[in-house]
Amino acid sequence: MIDLNKLVRENVLNLTPYSSARDEFSGTTGIFLDANENPYGILNRYPDPYQRKLKSRISEVKGIAEDKIFLGNGSDEIIDLSLRIFCNPGVDKILTFTPTYGMYEVSAAINDLTVIRIPLNDDFQIDVQKARKYFSDSNLKIIFICSPNNPSSNAMNHVDVEQLLSEFNGILIIDEAYIDFSEKPSFLKQLNRYPNLIVMQTFSKAFGLAAARVGMAFSGEAIIRLYNKMKPPYNISSINQQAVLKKLEKLEEYKKQVFRIRKERNRLATLLDKLKIVERVFPSDANFLLIKVKDANKIYNILVNNNIIVRNRNSVIDNCLRITVGKKSENDKLINALKAITI
Ligand code: PMP
Repeated sequence: MIDLNKLVRENVLNLTPYSSARDEFSGTTGIFLDANENPYGILNRYPDPYQRKLKSRISEVKGIAEDKIFLGNGSDEIIDLSLRIFCNPGVDKILTFTPTYGMYEVSAAINDLTVIRIPLNDDFQIDVQKARKYFSDSNLKIIFICSPNNPSSNAMNHVDVEQLLSEFNGILIIDEAYIDFSEKPSFLKQLNRYPNLIVMQTFSKAFGLAAARVGMAFSGEAIIRLYNKMKPPYNISSINQQAVLKKLEKLEEYKKQVFRIRKERNRLATLLDKLKIVERVFPSDANFLLIKVKDANKIYNILVNNNIIVRNRNSVIDNCLRITVGKKSENDKLINALKAITI
């Protein structure tokens, strides 16, 4: 049985969190003279620090209880908070499966943590055997799994992730930023079985709200309480809470967009596959495609000169470009520009 308290940093366990005016009185009616706000205007009041209205709607949409939901200023805030809750600077470690999303590594560096990097295999899948060797290290606090993975675009095998979940006694964070584009199921359903599991999702991708900066963490109530203790009091602005609520009123639009993007992804993959300069299109469960080309740097530069910006991942995976699925007209322009390249 996992003892969460043993995983949490001692100063965090002992922390007395800031108590905001809205913590001390959370009613919505009355004459508010408690938060040093300006009495005039429309954005003059501080937002709900716990985003109750928004969480109540997310709870309906995701089928997860409100006290198992935390909202961050983007998933990036959740990544940093997670490291600060569980990992002692200069002492503790995190484990990642590379190549993967760069912020785990950057956040770890900011928090002065060691990163254990285990390369994904040739199919960009997790090598459980290699990871297992590190489980006995009591300083290894968090394993990050990105599924579907950025930049390889594929979802991880469920059996492998389940194996890590059942064997690892630290915190396991599954970053599901791209899960809406995948046919593979989310790990949200496993939350009740694993008290050390945190599933991250975001409104930045399938919901089309990257500018609003709202990320979600789902986990047991104990971990959610730790996030709430650590976060800045008003970490999600009222404008951004409203933007997400509005989006969640129109789920049909979200579904239609995801359907369109997936269809476009498959069409784009087929077209790319036919091009001479493309050596490989990797199978994608996300809203982007990873392709291997003859000369990634050269092709990247030619595309930039054509006003088409893709992500050059050559420094991470040899001669690979990461292409976000755009609108049909944009994807057609990309294909035409690529067709014109002769190397
Ligand atoms: N996780 C992954 C795997 C990502 O690719 C990204 C954005 N590129 C994020 C998280 C960041 O999400 P957010 O906008 O919610 O901070």
